[in-house]
Parts: sequence; structure tokens; C-alpha cells
Amino acid sequence: MPAITPTQYELSAFDPNAHLFEVRCTIDDPAADGQRYRLPTWVPGSYLIREFARHFISVRAQNPAGAVTIVKEAKDTWRAASCVGPLTVVAKVYAFDLSVRTAYLDVTRGYFNGGAMFLCPVGREGAPCTLQIAPPHGPVHGEWRCATTLTPAEDAWTFRADDYDELIDHPVEMSAFQLGEFSAGGRAHQIAISGRADVDMARVERDLAHVCQYQIDLFGGTPPFPRNYLFQVMVVGDGHGGLEHRSSTSLLTSRKSLPLPGSADTTDDYVNFLGLASHEYFHAWNVKRIKPQAFTPYDLSRESYTRQLWVFEGITSYYDDLALVRSGVISTPKYLELLGRAITNVLRTPGRHVQSIADASFDAWIKFYRPDENSPNAGVSYYAKGALVALALDLALRLEGRSTLDDLMRALWQRHGEAGSGVPEDRIRMLASELAGRDLSDFFARYVDGTEDPPLAELLGGHGIALELRAATGANDRGGKPATTSKSRTWLGAKLGADLKLQHVFTGGPAERAGLAPGDTLVAFDGVRASLEGLNTLLERRPPSAHVPIHHFRRDELMLSNVVLVAAPLDTAWLALDDKATDTALARRAAWLGTDPKTAATT
Ligand code: ZN
Repeated sequence: MPAITPTQYELSAFDPNAHLFEVRCTIDDPAADGQRYRLPTWVPGSYLIREFARHFISVRAQNPAGAVTIVKEAKDTWRAASCVGPLTVVAKVYAFDLSVRTAYLDVTRGYFNGGAMFLCPVGREGAPCTLQIAPPHGPVHGEWRCATTLTPAEDAWTFRADDYDELIDHPVEMSAFQLGEFSAGGRAHQIAISGRADVDMARVERDLAHVCQYQIDLFGGTPPFPRNYLFQVMVVGDGHGGLEHRSSTSLLTSRKSLPLPGSADTTDDYVNFLGLASHEYFHAWNVKRIKPQAFTPYDLSRESYTRQLWVFEGITSYYDDLALVRSGVISTPKYLELLGRAITNVLRTPGRHVQSIADASFDAWIKFYRPDENSPNAGVSYYAKGALVALALDLALRLEGRSTLDDLMRALWQRHGEAGSGVPEDRIRMLASELAGRDLSDFFARYVDGTEDPPLAELLGGHGIALELRAATGANDRGGKPATTSKSRTWLGAKLGADLKLQHVFTGGPAERAGLAPGDTLVAFDGVRASLEGLNTLLERRPPSAHVPIHHFRRDELMLSNVVLVAAPLDTAWLALDDKATDTALARRAAWLGTDPKTAATT
């Protein structure tokens, strides 16, 4: 059989002011009965049908004889008339989504995920691909370069991929970005920062080098990606998000999250950025190579169901901050503060007793990615509770004394990641039981398939750490620290926005019992004009059982509800090093956090 010819793609920043890319796809040997083309409907790592084809403004086809008829067959599929090759399809694609999931083009920057850009000729999914990017013609800001981990070909703007799946798993950033570089595990790592930012690049390089090296060592010392790794960072005024790829990640972060030159401060925002980078890097193993069986291969034409997203997102969320403390980038007290906040976040979600993390994983497509006013009552995040279940599993394995979650991740890497075989739906329970040396079905039945809270107080206690619970001290209290005041508070049982609209009304709380609803705009408490400050004062001063008349608009109709306040729930967690713990517990704590037992209390 003759070698299959490559699918040739050309992409140009056709009109930055209209946010239009032009993308050409040429094949030498179109199918005899009319070549079909398909575009993905979702991007791996973000489990929502996004219908990328809706941004295709026009599609035409041509061969050496002239125009070829091409018609749409389905929302994501086109078919060209039967013709001789070479056949070229030309698409104009609108790109103005600043998120990490699709594509963006203006004079400051071009960015794309291949799945949102490149039509795949049906039947040629396994064919090699070439990509030629045309540098922008018109005026753009600065000298644009390309940052991508696609395999370079003849020059800085041409690339190749072994198949379509590889072509679309290396997003491309084009701009006059700032470039940082460091080495970890013997491989080059780049940081390309787009957007206006005054950043201490040397510090970011140094901190990320520690985090990446830690993760490489955790999985046995060899990076999983064949050449280099790239952090594509888009800086905005306010934003936070990331998407993992096989040897790169796209991050969206706020300007204030990056360290300023000359400042040694480790701000919460910078820790947040490091945690995001750490999270996406961990995915280079966990989900990009250790994958659910349901994703091998990906079917990008429709939803791919798995009850295991808690493994791929929850365990990754557990390790993202843990890698920061174990690599020495943050202190033990800072890590415990982050963990306290993570526990608080879950404790404030009544839906954790309604939906299991296995069910949340399965329904990500219609629930997690489509949150609404009732989400906190009806469901739980497989990231947030998944991370706590990962913590509980790690600590439980450590108490058994035979293994740790690190061992489980290494076993998954060896048996599934390196081996290239998908993880069956029940494999984590079986593997954890094998490592623990006893059946852990009860743990999984309660905390993964069931809706119980994992017994974190007990498990942390066995590691020399006390889990304390208290009431929130105000609307901005995210937990993680002891109370700043001893004043008691009452609770409304609702989340109020700055516009005085109720965003969420919590199941069984005073607001729900009084008949308040999400979307209601509060007008007055006790006959006095409503404000956030006024609500705060009211909750500080009124005792439990106090009756408060609340005037509010539902739609455009004025209503009056009488709320009976209750004592604020103990839904705010913070962790303390318990220095009276036994030597065994202190040794476990040091082993868990990767710190020396003598200095764990002070580092
Ligand atoms: Zn993730």
C-alpha cells in the first residue's frame, strides 16, 4: 500500500479587526463518493458540547478545475461533491473567545485550539498532518512569534503532526509574548506570557521549576512528554482558568496574580496562579496519558460518559496545592490554609448530600458545565469534593501503613499511562484495595458512589493535624484561618450579590422557609433600605429566632417575607498543627507533607 499522503492545513490571521481566521485544508485523494469533513463538538478537558462549527462563517471547496460544491450534512459535517484531487476546503472562522477553550484573534494576539479550527477529512483521522501558519500581514501589536509544542518543521511557522488527534492537542499562541525558560527533568520548559504584565519572570521560572521537578520525580523521574513543555499564559484584568494538553497548557490569569519585579511577597493571588499551573502540569500524566477507558479514543462528535472525572479532576486538584508545599514553594501553614478553604467550600454546598461525585462526573455535560441558581443545592463539584476524597483516600492508605496515593498514581501511570490502556470504570477501587491489602469497597460506596462526607477530622487527627469548625464571620470569610472575632452571628441561608439580588437560596435555610427565591432583589430589611453592609450588621446584631421583615421584588412585583434567622452553621474549616500528637502521628504528618518532622511546625 502506498504511504498515506498528509492532510495539509494552512492558517492565516485573515482579518484581525473582524476576528477572522482563514483555514485551508488540502488532500490529494478525496473519497470517490464525495469527501466528508467533520469538526469536533467539544474539546478534551472541558466536558460540554460547544458546537465549534457555529463559528464557521463560510466554507467553500475547490480543485484544479475550479469550484467544487460543498454542502452541510449535519451541524458538524460537510460533504464535497465527488471530484479529483487535490481538493482544498477554505473556511472563514470567527475567533473572539478569550477563554482557553476555543480561539481568539485581534491585533494584540492570535490563539487557537485546533479542534475549533481544523476540519478533519473523514477517513483520514490517522493521516499525518502539516500546518503552515501565515504571519499576519496587516498591522498588529509588536513582532508576533508562535508559541506551541507542535513538532516544528521547515521554519518557525510550519509544523507537523502524526495524526489529527495530535494536531489538535497543541494550541498555538501568536503574539509579542514575553518568554521565560527553565529546565526540569532534563527537559526545556517555556513560559509564554501574552497581555500587558510587569512580571518577575525569574521568580516564576524558579518556582515552576521546583513544582515541575517534584511532579516528574513523583511519577518516576522521566517527563511524559517527548520534547519540551509550554505554559501559555494569557494575562487579563480579571480571570482564571486553564486547559491541559499533552505537552502544554493554556492558562488565563489575572494581572495581579503574577509577581512584580522587586517584590518578594507571596500573595494569595500568586499562590492561586502557581496552583493553576501545577494543576494543569499534573494533567500531563493524569488524564492526558492515564485516561478513562471512555476517552480511548476520544469521540469528539458527542458526549463521552465516565463516572471517573473525580479521579482525573479531583485527584489532580488534591495534588495541585500539595505539590506546592512538597516542593517548598509554599509553607506548611499556607498549605493548611488552602486545605481549610477547600474543606469550607465543600461544607457550604448542601448538594454534596444529594449528588455523589461519581454521578457528578457522569452528568458533567449537563450539570457542572451548566451551573444555575440551584446548583449548590442539587449537586457537588467533582473537583472540590473529589479533592477531599483524594485526601481522605491518601490519609486512609497512609494509616493502613502499606502504601500512599503516590503509589496508586505510580501504579496507574505504569499500568495505564505508559502502557497506553484506558482506565476501566471500577479500576481505582480495585487498585486502592490491592495497595491497601484489604477491600476498600466500603470507602468507595460511601464517599464516591454515596453522598457521605469523608471522615477528614479523624484521618487528619491521625496525621497530627486538628480540623476545627466554626461559623463564618462575614460574607468574605472563606475559611482556612481561626475566627477573627468571637462575636456570634445569625444566618440568612442565601447568597446575596452586589446588586442585592439573591444568587442562591440554600435548601432548608431561613430564606427558603420564608419564601425568598433566587433572582429576588432585596429592597429593605426591617423597613430600612437594603445594602450588603446593612445585612452584615443585621446578622451580627440579631439573635437566633429573631423575625426580620424583608421587602423584595420578584420580577417587578413588591413582596414582603418574614425571615426567622437561625444561628450561623459551623461550615467554616481551619486546620492546626497538633503538636501534642503522638510521635507516630507527627512522623506520618512529615511523610505526608514531605517536611522534616522537627521543622514541620515552623516552616
Ligand atoms: Zn483539571
